Amino acid sequence: MALACEKGFFCKTEVIEQCSYCGKHFCIRHGHRDKAVCKSPSCMRKYRHELAVVERFAYEDEKRALGFARNYARLCGKENCNHEFYLVCGRCEVQFCPTHISRHIFHFDIITIRGTTRVRDEINLCELCKPYLSDYKKDRYE
Ligand SMILES: [Zn+2]
Ligand SMILES: [Zn+2]
Ligand SMILES: [Zn+2]
Ligand SMILES: [Zn+2]
Repeated sequence: MALACEKGFFCKTEVIEQCSYCGKHFCIRHGHRDKAVCKSPSCMRKYRHELAVVERFAYEDEKRALGFARNYARLCGKENCNHEFYLVCGRCEVQFCPTHISRHIFHFDIITIRGTTRVRDEINLCELCKPYLSDYKKDRYE
């Protein structure tokens, strides 16, 4: 006997896929076939978040390739900027003029079983990489 849909009450329609988030089997009415995801709000939210992340990475890759091409011509990595490059971004490694890169000084804790050490660090980040500064500020556990 074919598996019955696990989504929706009393739905006994034949299963087409298994949700890649919650693992439940779903029928054509209760899910999406293109990507195995059921229609529950929490799974749809995860799916949309995943899509946004993939899109963001594709966008960053594109800007990064453009930045490297511009650096090759000795120009700042930012589109339409006519300045020469000056500093390298600590995350994407594209080089930028002082207007399009900024220096960030931050502190974080290194926590070990022996105690906590406060560390001061700094990084140059371009406009595209600036949102990731919070990742660098996170405390580290060793
Ligand atoms: Zn699901
Ligand atoms: Zn169903
Ligand atoms: Zn960058
Ligand atoms: Zn620039």
